Amino acid sequence: MPVVHVIGGGLAGLSAAVEFIGNANVRVYESARSCGGRARSFYDKALDRRIDNGNHLVLSANRATFRFLGLIGAYDGLTGPGAPIFPWHDVATGESWVLRLNEGRFPFWAFCPSRRVPGMRWRDLAVMLRLLRCQPDDVVTSCLGDDALSRRLLAPFAVSALNTPIDAARALLLKKVVQECLLKGGRACRPFYPKIGLSETFVTPAAAHLTHMRAEVRTGCRVTGLQVQEGRVRALEVGAEVMEVAPDDQVVIATPAPVAAGLLQPSWPELTVPDAFQSIINVHFALPTSATYHGAAGRAGFTGVNGGMTEWIYLKPDLLSVTVSAANRYLSMPQEALTQQIWQEVRQVIQPLTATKLPQDAPQARVIIEKRATFAASVAQDKRRPSTVTPLSNLVLAGTGRKPGCHQPLRAPFVLG
Ligand SMILES: Cc1cc2nc3c(=O)[nH]c(=O)nc-3n(C[C@H](O)[C@H](O)[C@H](O)COP(=O)(O)OP(=O)(O)OC[C@H]3O[C@@H](n4cnc5c(N)ncnc54)[C@H](O)[C@@H]3O)c2cc1C
Repeated sequence: MPVVHVIGGGLAGLSAAVEFIGNANVRVYESARSCGGRARSFYDKALDRRIDNGNHLVLSANRATFRFLGLIGAYDGLTGPGAPIFPWHDVATGESWVLRLNEGRFPFWAFCPSRRVPGMRWRDLAVMLRLLRCQPDDVVTSCLGDDALSRRLLAPFAVSALNTPIDAARALLLKKVVQECLLKGGRACRPFYPKIGLSETFVTPAAAHLTHMRAEVRTGCRVTGLQVQEGRVRALEVGAEVMEVAPDDQVVIATPAPVAAGLLQPSWPELTVPDAFQSIINVHFALPTSATYHGAAGRAGFTGVNGGMTEWIYLKPDLLSVTVSAANRYLSMPQEALTQQIWQEVRQVIQPLTATKLPQDAPQARVIIEKRATFAASVAQDKRRPSTVTPLSNLVLAGTGRKPGCHQPLRAPFVLG
């Protein structure tokens, strides 16, 4: 059987490997000590908790993710409220609400004050039409308005899904996300997140499935170069070692875009890839006393936040985890100030939901700044994304730096940091 050589053991590489196994021998080359890349869990000694590098939320519209979970037998690794509900709190005004989408496509929720965002009128839906008519060079702000739907749902939705400030984010990308989930109704918008952690849900079961299917997963194995001859990859260089790529073999590059460019540009000088990135900050607060939470946020396991730095809070009995997307704007802020400001927002939102007394000052916290969490989804950067197809006949690209292809766990639809 031919061999498929997969370079990179993040979610894109693992999902490519899982798709090919059974029809080919598969070999995964991962430079780190373990797979997972930008979606991984680890034990944090200071917190004495197992945490994720960053909270991930997946909507039911994300068929690629659910297909991957089905193939590795890990559907039950995700959990969620089981309904398209999104609790929200505005820390600037003190208002709380729950967005409750209806299952079907027709947006009944928009006509019902108790299900939509506060201050919204059904006429605000016109902004969706503006977004659907956006031009290729439009940014998100040029399609949104000053109405409640824009300010309280579409703008935070855009920042989270595109991980880019809305005055720079490409409207066309938001349009695709909105078409794939919000406009398909609640059935496409049920939120899910890992029951225990990212590694337990996505990485460990994928690695176990691949091992069971006799794939080779080589960790600590960095591919440093490609040997190309007559329009085909003939060998992979792993330091001083040369791994032959036989005539029927295929190669998938599923590394971050700059690494892919480094490997490919010698044989494909015209290749462009995104070269600007956006960070995501996660702050994990270890609770000194275990807590239970009531209300819609307790049922959902998370809540959205408007009007502050905090965007999402994930609620666990011993841990409150906060996500801040498009976070380049906060990188110069001292970590102590950032932690305290976020904790005060967390207290304001969470204290009314629990009988456990939350401390006045931030408890033990771990701040994780992923500086290159995603490419900056601007018009210019999106245009730099190559397609999955390359001029080399036995090589394809996978992963988030490429235009959507079959093995891309796209940061969409409405997948929130
Ligand atoms: C904090 C945070 C929150 C996020 N939230 C969400 C979310 O809610 N929803 C969502 O969909 N997305 C989210 N994302 C984005 C998502 O995690 C990434 O899009 C996805 O994990 C990227 O997978 P990938 O396999 O394309 O790349 P990566 O995860 O970067 O994997 C690439 C792998 O290649 C390896 N590698 C690099 N160079 C080499 C080499 N030369 N040889 C061999 N191996 C190599 C790396 O070690 C890495 O394991 C988030 C990201 C972060 C950081």
